[in-house]
Amino acid sequence: MRSASVALDGSTQQASTKQKSRMLCEVQVVDKEGHVVRVTMWNSRAKIFSGKHGQVLHVMNSVVEHRGGVTLNSSEKTEFPLNPKIEEADELKQWFTDGFDEAALKHISCGYSKEGGLTSTTLEELPKVLTKAQVRASRLGHGDCIDYFNMVENISGFQEGIMYQSCGFQGCRESLEKHKGDCPVKEHTPQPDEKQYKYKIGFTTGEDENKVMLLTVFSPAGTMIIGAPATEMYKMEATPNTQYMKKLEEIITSGTFHKLLVRVSTRHWMDVNNWEHCELQYHVVSAWPAWDTGASEEVDTSGVGVDEPADVNNVNKHAGWLLLDV
Ligand SMILES: [Zn+2]
Repeated sequence: MRSASVALDGSTQQASTKQKSRMLCEVQVVDKEGHVVRVTMWNSRAKIFSGKHGQVLHVMNSVVEHRGGVTLNSSEKTEFPLNPKIEEADELKQWFTDGFDEAALKHISCGYSKEGGLTSTTLEELPKVLTKAQVRASRLGHGDCIDYFNMVENISGFQEGIMYQSCGFQGCRESLEKHKGDCPVKEHTPQPDEKQYKYKIGFTTGEDENKVMLLTVFSPAGTMIIGAPATEMYKMEATPNTQYMKKLEEIITSGTFHKLLVRVSTRHWMDVNNWEHCELQYHVVSAWPAWDTGASEEVDTSGVGVDEPADVNNVNKHAGWLLLDV
């Protein structure tokens, strides 16, 4: 395929794979119709890439991939000339400098790679609401991909131990329990007198044993789900005959639906026998109350189809791309 584009944000980083170390650079580009797509470059191309925000990138012979959304990968035949002297490039630049409607941007790539230089702050949240079945059937979070999606779910159970004693300095989430009562940040010693607690909640959604999904949520999103600050919950738990267990039970039995922004990635770990395991980890980044009951009927999942390359024809059709994030 042939296209030119203007850049948003990102940087070149070293990506380590088992076999060898490869250089990987990911950039976000946008076309005149507001489609934002991720472009991936490797090795020497990643190393020498010097594109900047607002420049035009001409993407030639890229590989269209569908992983959650659509991304443009590169092969040996792919070329990325910057600021090409073509008519479409001038038109794109004009469109970009005239000011485009940011709210109308359509992100058609889903998530980003762990080592690609893009971060969640440079990416828009995908507004898609997915069901658990759709998430399971997708490739979201597989391999080296970090993906984001929304779910509307209620809570079916809590794992034991939902709070930990944290550093008392504002904005610090370090666990004091892990570090023998001190924060590893030097300036955070001594600790303030008043003890602080934060959430690290493991919870499940779904009733059917085979269809349960385990998610984790930390403060402050955890406060949204529990409906009380962690320090308050800790005091309840520490005092006999308080409503602590009752409160958790109420959350489960109330059936309250939460809208959750979830980050999914694959975690690799070794067991005691040195067997390597990998598992998908679902981490709730933000939570909002949704509806009290019957939310599943109200959730609009039409046109979601995670793995469907719905926009791919659009991608191929466009002659120009703007580099948005470099
Ligand atoms: Zn600290």
